[in-house]
Amino acid sequence: MEIKNHRLKGKNIKYQESPNHSGKLKNGVPDTIVIHYTSGGSVEGAISTLCNPIIKASAHLVIGRDKSITQLVNFDTIAWHAGRSSYKGRNSFNNFSIGIEIDNAGKLEKSEAGYVAWFGRNYQSKDVIKAVHRNQSESTYWHKYTEDQIELVFEICEELIKTYPIELIVGHEEIAPSRKIDPGPAFPLDKLRTRLLSHNRAEDGSDEKIVFTQKMGVVTANRLNIRSDPWLGAKTVAPPLAGGTELKILDETNGWYHVDIVHKGWVSKKYVSS
Ligand SMILES: [Zn+2]
Repeated sequence: MEIKNHRLKGKNIKYQESPNHSGKLKNGVPDTIVIHYTSGGSVEGAISTLCNPIIKASAHLVIGRDKSITQLVNFDTIAWHAGRSSYKGRNSFNNFSIGIEIDNAGKLEKSEAGYVAWFGRNYQSKDVIKAVHRNQSESTYWHKYTEDQIELVFEICEELIKTYPIELIVGHEEIAPSRKIDPGPAFPLDKLRTRLLSHNRAEDGSDEKIVFTQKMGVVTANRLNIRSDPWLGAKTVAPPLAGGTELKILDETNGWYHVDIVHKGWVSKKYVSS
């Protein structure tokens, strides 16, 4: 993957111009990447919406669940993805940012049949994560991104950072918190920033906690369930772990440890001493 003449080139990448754009970005920008989800049911639907002149919205890139990447606006041109936005003293993020839309249904409601998106489609529990949104206090249900999508976004951001003076990666939910909840807690935004923008870490000590180094832990409960995802409703991936079992802890999120013990899975942090 590489950027040439303000276009991303490589496998599964196509260009389809959206009429929804304005002038060129000024010198010295883009300096920011804004991450979004499409809040829809298909990448084709998202692309056609973002190319519809009546809707007046666009983004530079759309990432499908099928590993497809579609560029709609050149990186030196203003796309219309952020809307009214403000963060750390700056407004109107369209004027200096690259917008990346990821095909994802967004927030889901639990019902008897499963987990339902706002447009009525039902999702199975394997495609759902329960987590607390950074702007909310209660845990809710969210459509999972595919691992390929997350990997592609990391790769694309790396290329953008190589090519442009990118200083900041933010979620739409952070620059328009009263209106927007995308990309939501299913997207590893903090990990993306700390991994790719290492200078942020030095300036802002609060980000340092997010960098996780592997460590060992011991199960303190008599029996501890090991689950496919970091929430109580997720299915167990193996018989419960016995008290005293030693674990390699790979990662941590919202009170859960991702552990490796024959099977990889998630255990509640409360019952592990490390
Ligand atoms: Zn958005």
